[in-house]
Amino acid sequence: MPKFSSLPDTRLQVAARAGHCCEYCKSMDTFSPNYFTVDHIIPEPLGGSDILDNLAYACFLCNRLKSNKSSVIDVASGTWIPIFNPRLLDWNEHFAWSEDLTLIIGISAIGRVTVDELQLNRPKLVAYRKAVTPFGVHPPK
Ligand SMILES: [Zn+2]
Repeated sequence: MPKFSSLPDTRLQVAARAGHCCEYCKSMDTFSPNYFTVDHIIPEPLGGSDILDNLAYACFLCNRLKSNKSSVIDVASGTWIPIFNPRLLDWNEHFAWSEDLTLIIGISAIGRVTVDELQLNRPKLVAYRKAVTPFGVHPPK
């Protein structure tokens, strides 16, 4: 039996629901050089299941950096803060774009720890955003 994320229907549903954008860094699969994956928001080792409500479309590096975590210690407060959950939370309530649209700014504790943990301003992401912004495909609608 193939793993769920290799099943074309599940992968297509997750990608379509996300508008073919990484649900963390917002890069588009069409233009990104990254391979895209299906992420378990609550990782399987922590009890997360394969249901659609626990799946997110993520570029390879966001998925890799998130790994098997659902929360991380916030260095500012010393408390455990959940990583952004795209099924439960509105991206725009936790993140904002810099004026030049190249950087993601965490505007809540969840946003800040997610920007740090998933390195949402990786140099290649910033270069990608600079390259695609003039063509109207960034930031995604
Ligand atoms: Zn990403």
